[in-house]
Amino acid sequence: MSESTTGAWGARYSDALMNTFGPPKTTLVRGSGARVVDADGKEYVDLLGGIAVNTLGHAHPALVRAVADQAAALVHVSNFFATPPQVRLAELLLQLLGTDGRVFFANSGTEANEAAFKLTRRTGRTRVVVAEGGFHGRTMGALALTSKEAYRSPFEPLPGDVVFVPYGDAEALAAAVDTSVAAVLLEPVQGEAGVVVPPADYLVRAQQVAHDAGALLWLDEVQTGIGRTGTWFAHQNPAIVDGTVVPDIVTLAKGLAGGVPIGACIATGGSGKLFDPGNHGTTFGGNPLAAAAALAVLDTIENDGLLAHSVALGERLRGVLGADPRVTAVRGTGLMVGIDISVAVAPDVVVAGQDAGFILNATGPDRLRFVPPLVLTERDVDDLAAAWAGILDAAYAAAADGADA
Ligand SMILES: *Cc1c(COP(=O)(O)O)cnc(C)c1O
Repeated sequence: MSESTTGAWGARYSDALMNTFGPPKTTLVRGSGARVVDADGKEYVDLLGGIAVNTLGHAHPALVRAVADQAAALVHVSNFFATPPQVRLAELLLQLLGTDGRVFFANSGTEANEAAFKLTRRTGRTRVVVAEGGFHGRTMGALALTSKEAYRSPFEPLPGDVVFVPYGDAEALAAAVDTSVAAVLLEPVQGEAGVVVPPADYLVRAQQVAHDAGALLWLDEVQTGIGRTGTWFAHQNPAIVDGTVVPDIVTLAKGLAGGVPIGACIATGGSGKLFDPGNHGTTFGGNPLAAAAALAVLDTIENDGLLAHSVALGERLRGVLGADPRVTAVRGTGLMVGIDISVAVAPDVVVAGQDAGFILNATGPDRLRFVPPLVLTERDVDDLAAAWAGILDAAYAAAADGADA
């Protein structure tokens, strides 16, 4: 095996990296737009987008330029100092949210949620009400807010006073929220659960329930934010929310800087002043490199009309996926799409997709999620259209062979 093949890299990976992610599916070396190329030179249409991260796709010139220019000026200075990109980014995020408030920058989604979790403690209350099926990250605090037993149980005891309620059920939420509750935490659309969209009145009712009890409404938009559903934030999307929601806390990460690590915990109104100096901190968070990358992402979404583009491409993608009768449900808006298939062969669909030149993602045995770059093109989707039935044929056949063996 030559030194530079995907197989050779995969073997070296397994000998050098912790086995937290299982074996890598291949080894990628470069990309452009929504396409990536592996170490064997094979090209793929990337319908995973680094898990809803590569907003501008790969090697977007605006992001490349912003990162290069900022690196040539200042990469990092510590939070003893302000930098213009960090200040501009905080101002711009508040402007896009349409409220006053304050921003804390971190380096990931789990850290953004960790900051928000600590912020809720500053209300003087400790209880947080969270939805079953939600995903909020892997650090101990964020994990305490995440319902999945398989993620939690090896690491218990986790921080307590977290109550889980069924997602999308406003009555169940109302029954769980009283004046002991510091915050209600929800994803506007559940991502890791496979793109689960709640009833259109859910977030409005959740806001009412939280505020009636004097609790904060905290929306985890780590996956849904920054144009993913076709609006800047999912809670502003009329296809998801019937009415007006003004969250007290919004957490962001994934798509915000197009792949450069960043997280943000935004608290609106008076909630933005709950932390005092010394209450929280970070070495890297909000450094000028990450902030400049995020500014380039936000500017490009605006200047290139990527919100409208992603709505149109999302519609096209859902049409392609749903055209096959083996697809039993199609969910989502914009370029956050989930499907169910008739047989529990989603992992086989991922394998067959990769063989055919598409990077896909299974979130459950019969569930797939599509969160591609917002720069996805019609040609990318048309290529999937031409291959989709064959991918499902191969997956269903492989699963049947496996069952026979
Ligand atoms: C991915 C995700 C997180 C965790 O983000 P990391 O950057 O992986 O720590 C938190 N919340 C939601 C909704 C996510 O999708």
